[in-house]
Amino acid sequence: VINFSAGPAKLPAAVLAHAQKEMLDHKDSGVSVMELSHRSSEFIKILHAAEEKLRHLLTIPDNYKVLFLQGGGTGQFSAVPLNLMQLKPGHSADYIITGSWSAKAAQEAEKYGTVNLVLPKPKKYTSIPDRSTWTLNPDASYFYYCANETIDGVEFQYIPETNGVPIVCDMSSNILTRHLDISKFGLIFAGAQKNIGPAGVTLVIIREDLIGFAMKVCPVIFDYKVQAGNNSLYNTPPTYGIYMMGLVFDWIEEVGGVHKMEENAIKKSGLVYELIDNSEGFYNCPLDLDCRSRMNIPIRIGFHGAHDVLEKKFSDESTSNGYLQLKGHRSVGGIRVSLYNAVTVEETEHLVEFMKGFMSRNRQ
Ligand code: PLP
Repeated sequence: VINFSAGPAKLPAAVLAHAQKEMLDHKDSGVSVMELSHRSSEFIKILHAAEEKLRHLLTIPDNYKVLFLQGGGTGQFSAVPLNLMQLKPGHSADYIITGSWSAKAAQEAEKYGTVNLVLPKPKKYTSIPDRSTWTLNPDASYFYYCANETIDGVEFQYIPETNGVPIVCDMSSNILTRHLDISKFGLIFAGAQKNIGPAGVTLVIIREDLIGFAMKVCPVIFDYKVQAGNNSLYNTPPTYGIYMMGLVFDWIEEVGGVHKMEENAIKKSGLVYELIDNSEGFYNCPLDLDCRSRMNIPIRIGFHGAHDVLEKKFSDESTSNGYLQLKGHRSVGGIRVSLYNAVTVEETEHLVEFMKGFMSRNRQ
């Protein structure tokens, strides 16, 4: 089988094999990583190694802290405004809504300050309007965007220019899949469960000068100052998830780093988009060309708009042929092909062959 899940998603086979080997006996200690105290020297080594590897893979500058937290991307929808909304006197933040996840983040932020929508909320999430149409507030505490909208398939191909307003970015579904200049960001967060590990760990990369502005009501586990001051060990961190994440970082390094992940992502998504574009309308991707995601490709099937019967048939046939979890998110329907780091080019080629076959069997 090949797992095309949107998340939690496929992990590299080599990572799973390594974890399986060590499952009951970590480095001849006689215990599993799950059984190690988070204050033990063995676990501290695992934590430091994961951080160092990530710093190397992403070339994270020294004036950034790396935090391993819990609460998922949704936790960060709250933690970000709780920590950063008061950075400037107006207690306001700019949010650009390009899909379901940034919409949720903006809705949550409204509890903690004034949210300025950079663009009117669109009815459908299929494009990123030109930068010249955005209304940015120069006094905003931060500018927020979602780099890749997992449900809708809208991905930024560039880092927005904000004239000095710190940029906060949700990279839950595309971190470590493309080269980025980290120094352009104030804060990046990402749940692990798509490209970098199992569900349970949430990564936060934050520029040091943005730490220390949390509201009084900010829960202590979400306070970046407390977490940074304690090297993510203020309370019990998701130890096993951090261990697994470290193994994924090792794997990325071994197979060629972020550069290789990006090259693969371009190849894999290119194969699927090529099929869509040459299908004469049998497969349809509703997105503008300049924001098509390399990670999540939403597709409707049917020559004259979406065809429920064909989509159901595709879902059933793909599953019975071993192509798993291709059903689209319930809010957009159709199918969705997720091509995270662990999905190989060969696996994507197999899927494309299957999709070609399905098209020729159901053309009429
Ligand atoms: N942001 C993005 C881009 C996501 O894809 C998701 C979940 O899929 C979230 C945030 C929410 O993450 P979580 O379910 O870990 O809270």
